[in-house]
Amino acid sequence: MLTAWMLLGSLVLSEAKPTARDISKGVDWLTRYGYLPAPDPYSAQQQTLEGLRASVRSMQRFAGIPETGELDDETVQMMQRPRCSLPDIIGTSELMRRRRKRYALVGTVWEKKELTWRLDTFPAASLTRDTTRALIGYALAAWGQETALSFTETQGEADLRVGFVGGSHGDGYPFDGPGGTLGHAFFPGVGPIAGDTHMDADETWTYNKDEGTDLFAVAVHEFGHSLGLSHSSAELSIMRPYYQGTVGNPSKYRLPPDDLEGIQALYGKRVSSPGAALPPPMPTQRVIPPHGPTHL
Ligand code: ZN
Ligand code: CA
Repeated sequence: MLTAWMLLGSLVLSEAKPTARDISKGVDWLTRYGYLPAPDPYSAQQQTLEGLRASVRSMQRFAGIPETGELDDETVQMMQRPRCSLPDIIGTSELMRRRRKRYALVGTVWEKKELTWRLDTFPAASLTRDTTRALIGYALAAWGQETALSFTETQGEADLRVGFVGGSHGDGYPFDGPGGTLGHAFFPGVGPIAGDTHMDADETWTYNKDEGTDLFAVAVHEFGHSLGLSHSSAELSIMRPYYQGTVGNPSKYRLPPDDLEGIQALYGKRVSSPGAALPPPMPTQRVIPPHGPTHL
């Protein structure tokens, strides 16, 4: 009997033969992000070679790399890039609908336009609490300035709760230490966790720097999920699943057209001036000496 990884192994044309463990990791990756159906112990149905090739091709198409249907070097490298831990394909029929490279909606929205948010936990000393709070405010404003949505920080019950958590943190979607998965968020809905965003506490979160992981860029992405957007296959979108680096000054940031179209399909356009949705200016980032005090 051929197992999935044996079949996938026959797709690899690279000179350096991958180990069974590499191939198995590839299948795990494709399954985790929705390109392959989860194993079903009842039907025990095996993947067909064509099915596996098709899943590699749709991953490549989504990522914007050559659609070879093989686990070539570029594909393996893409699979190793830091990214959001939510799947790219949700539901099996979605693959068929993904003809155009564009945004995708998750199917639920907030029924109200005034949303509240709070920060439950903060990152380690690479960012101050004030900077973290300002970056989160600006990341929400990126969506708010284009729609009729408004976001108000609260210390009480909040629609969108944001936390920095590491490893297993009680929601069934554990983080994986530095690199790999960076964050995830829960789609709009009625449960207590709906709309919440978790950032991996084991990343070195930074702001507008070359090193570390840019909190503003990842937060804008995750809040797209909190508001009802899924991953986009568009070339230029903050909702691409892979980490794209910094996106510049948070107070000057504007969403790419694909994301604008997606969020306005859900909540309509803003009628008043976009500036009205912007929070106060960013605090000056305090430089923290490498061996300095770790209190905030
Ligand atoms: Zn995501
Ligand atoms: Ca991680």
